[in-house]
Amino acid sequence: MSSDRYPFAEIEAKWQARWEESRQFRATEDPGRPKFYCLEMFPYPSGRIHMGHVRVYAIGDLLARYKWMRGFNVLHPMGWDAFGLPAENAAIEHGVHPAIWTYENIAYMRAQLRKMGISYDWDRELTTCDPAYYKWEQLVFIKMLERGLAYRRRSTVNWCPSCQTVLANEQVEAGRCWRCDSEVTRRDIDGWFFKITEYAEELLAWCDRLPGWPERVMTMQRNWIGKSEGAEFDLPVVGRPELKIRVFTTRPDTAFGMTYAVLAPEHPLVDALVTDRKERAAIQQFRAEVARQSEVERTAEDRPKRGVRLGAKVVNPFNGAEIPLFIADYILMTYGTGAIMAVPGEDERDWEFAQQHGLPVIPTVKRPAGWTGGAYAGEGVKINSGFLDGLTTAEAKRKAIDWLVERGLGTAKVNYRLRDWGISRQRYWGAPIPVVYCEKDGMVPEKEEHLPVVLPQDVQLSGKGGSPLAEVASFVNTMCPKCGGKARRETDTMDTFVESSWYFLRYCSPHYEQGMFERAAAEYWMPVDQYIGGIEHAVLHLLYARFYTKVLRDLGLTKVDEPFRALLSQGMVIKDGAKMSKSKGNVVDPDDLIRTFGADTARLFSLFAAPPEKDLDWNDHGVEGASRFLNRVWRFVIANLDTLKVGGVGSTPTTPAGVAFRRTIHETIKRVTDDIEGDFHFNTAISAIMELVNALHAFESASLDGVGSGERAALLREAVETMLLLLGPFAPHVTEELWQQLGHPTSLFKQPWPVADQAALTRKEVTVVLQVDGKVRGRLTIEVDAAEDRVQRLALADDKVRPWLRGRAVERVVVVPNRLVNVVTRS
Ligand SMILES: [Zn+2]
Ligand SMILES: [Zn+2]
Repeated sequence: MSSDRYPFAEIEAKWQARWEESRQFRATEDPGRPKFYCLEMFPYPSGRIHMGHVRVYAIGDLLARYKWMRGFNVLHPMGWDAFGLPAENAAIEHGVHPAIWTYENIAYMRAQLRKMGISYDWDRELTTCDPAYYKWEQLVFIKMLERGLAYRRRSTVNWCPSCQTVLANEQVEAGRCWRCDSEVTRRDIDGWFFKITEYAEELLAWCDRLPGWPERVMTMQRNWIGKSEGAEFDLPVVGRPELKIRVFTTRPDTAFGMTYAVLAPEHPLVDALVTDRKERAAIQQFRAEVARQSEVERTAEDRPKRGVRLGAKVVNPFNGAEIPLFIADYILMTYGTGAIMAVPGEDERDWEFAQQHGLPVIPTVKRPAGWTGGAYAGEGVKINSGFLDGLTTAEAKRKAIDWLVERGLGTAKVNYRLRDWGISRQRYWGAPIPVVYCEKDGMVPEKEEHLPVVLPQDVQLSGKGGSPLAEVASFVNTMCPKCGGKARRETDTMDTFVESSWYFLRYCSPHYEQGMFERAAAEYWMPVDQYIGGIEHAVLHLLYARFYTKVLRDLGLTKVDEPFRALLSQGMVIKDGAKMSKSKGNVVDPDDLIRTFGADTARLFSLFAAPPEKDLDWNDHGVEGASRFLNRVWRFVIANLDTLKVGGVGSTPTTPAGVAFRRTIHETIKRVTDDIEGDFHFNTAISAIMELVNALHAFESASLDGVGSGERAALLREAVETMLLLLGPFAPHVTEELWQQLGHPTSLFKQPWPVADQAALTRKEVTVVLQVDGKVRGRLTIEVDAAEDRVQRLALADDKVRPWLRGRAVERVVVVPNRLVNVVTRS
């Protein structure tokens, strides 16, 4: 089976070793050259690479090698996102220390990546669980603490009962843990936060200034930040002059339609409003029920909205009406003020609640003709709205806010959905948070010269809950950096998303010891020109990294505002209709694939099977097709080596066949370049190269007569070399080998990318006379040296010719190239 295949195993090992020995892909700062920072999201060292990795690294490597050939100074690094729960869980299950498990996995996966022949600068490899790495984020943590950008507070948080840790809001998907899919519960806990909300406006504003990002990712980020503009004002409580309920609304224009008001069950005013014991009991029971639900469940559109009516009433300040007050599960304490005015006429959720509780509905916007629905959220003319009547919704919004401000009742207000990033994790395998708790001084940050606070190795991991570090006496018991007295260390560790929020900066100078990164190196390389990774990070990692970069900028460490200039979000690899996963049993092991077909085939297949942003549907025929193609290339070049070696450099063909063939070569250059530079159409770029190989075969056999041997050899050589250069970034080993076999002493990837010759692309046109039986019947404009069958076909189909052929049979067609076509007929 393998005898008819080119010796890929040998070739791939040979070139991987050569590239490594010659340090070909090592990057050094060179201000005289344009830079290109190409980065794939670094992997978690889970044990083995999977097909999703092969896909993303093949894309990154293609772009890196292409940019090398385009003359860029390319930075293409690789490292390991090495902290995280799987290591700790493996430790609990198998009794192996997380550090050993992690470093063994890294060694194995590094070897796998080397077998793929990716052009990484391995000198820059970094591992985030290395104290020399996390030391710097501990330092930044202390600086953030000084600026109030890191803080500790007790709050209700998302808790994963299976992972036994807190989760950030971004790590909860539809009420479930992003990592293990368990249902997330709520818990009151002390923990550390990063004040990402301070950057909400800037993060949002830059969403419009990153044209290299996919629009759907930007939309997801905008929605996650969730800016809403409106008003905040007070609803006085009837008969309780000391009590007011502050509400936030994005629709102050609808205030005249307020028929009730709602508090979040957790709202602190609820207790003050309640007077009677029976009511208190009902409220307590309702709160307990609500506490069992996640925010996502509470705000889901398709579920009944539940609430309890309170005895107290409030006043609508716009019209003086006394209206009922509820607590309801669909109002969250974490959004706005935790209280709303309810306008069932113009808000869908309020409308549903009003229907369920028999509350009145007052429309305040004139409905469009034929409207039959419930709440109407659209624009329109104001009705039933006192001094706002007749205005548009936009005008009424402004006027309502002015009215509130003039009377001192409220203000204009902007709200965000974004919450601060909870970074405390009650687990072991993470970076220690560098603070201590002193009996005398309270919370004290560790001194800079004491960093890193190193994660201790001797730890008992039970998985029973509680921070494992709390059990390590030698770690916990320490000295207060301020007074020298006894102190306890913080035993929570940092969310591993902190490490991935700045690794791209560390790659710029990974061995730098005087700081997080060397300023000049970061200024040269940053921002990342092309970032590549999965859509599952659309909010999570990508939002955190953007935020953290802005914090570093504000700490004076870097000038960059945004870490990633362009983003490519590749699709998943699926097989039999589902994402490849161990639990579904549809995994293809890249090791097997590389052993059977070679790394070049694995890469070519994954680039050819689908455009990068789409899901890649695995199929064995596709892999075999990619393998057949590379073998075909191999066989052609080897079989024609003698001819190719004698071919002169640069060809100016004189025969029509030669001109047409050279045009094909240069059209291919243009197509492949446009496909890579445009929207990453790697699959169609490969198709174009395949067509060139077909043309190469056709020309090779057809040109033996009619084309002079000098012209023929020169054209074959130009075609083969061009094809190898174009195919190089897609299948680097086999092309590098053939390039050498052709007699080139320097690497294919040090050659300039081919440029299409405009002269070869232009098709000059001539006017050909069309005759039927020797009489001129028409004229045809066609490219110079058009193929004879094409000229014939066009002549016979010509509108001026066809009437003369009616009722007659075409006996033969005489073509005088570039001059004349004569159709000879008989009746
Ligand atoms: Zn979990
Ligand atoms: Zn102290």
